[in-house]
Amino acid sequence: MDFNKRALLIIDYTNDFVADKGALTTGLPGQQIEGHIIELANQFLSAGDYVILPTDLHDGVDPYHPETKLFPPHNLKDTWGRELYGKLQSWYREHRDNDHVYFFDKNRYSAFANTNLDNYLRSRKITDLHLTGVCTDICVLHTAVDAYNHDYQLTIHKNAVASFDQTGHKWALNHFKTTLGATIMP
Ligand code: ZN
Repeated sequence: MDFNKRALLIIDYTNDFVADKGALTTGLPGQQIEGHIIELANQFLSAGDYVILPTDLHDGVDPYHPETKLFPPHNLKDTWGRELYGKLQSWYREHRDNDHVYFFDKNRYSAFANTNLDNYLRSRKITDLHLTGVCTDICVLHTAVDAYNHDYQLTIHKNAVASFDQTGHKWALNHFKTTLGATIMP
């Protein structure tokens, strides 16, 4: 019997996107999902599944990067803003050597754009992706669209995603379900 292999994706859960003083913070909604993200990460590791942390990285302010016109500088290399937020930082330090934990840099909204994520998942026969992190309607959304286009099964954990835009957050949750065929977990 073949069981589907699963990976939990924790997207962009850094100080800049979550902490009060973050450059592009989701604020309280982002901070409120911290405990549930850690709970899920522990569940996935104990079940023998994978925990993947795709994390936005900007190397200085690049005039050619499309985000430069849209957002203030954020997740700059070697800064506090780019460190994982709160308990996730210590969780990652504790588990970073586990070969089922994979942290990687990304430079676009989607965790699939310009990265080896698809190869990483396929080589390990991972077919089910569980998405958490921020922002629901930006990086989580673009990652979900690419996952759909690459034929992955999607689950979105409603209490483990957040945005600074509540209208966008609600719209994206509906879109995951009705258009990307995702299971929404309460
Ligand atoms: Zn960025």
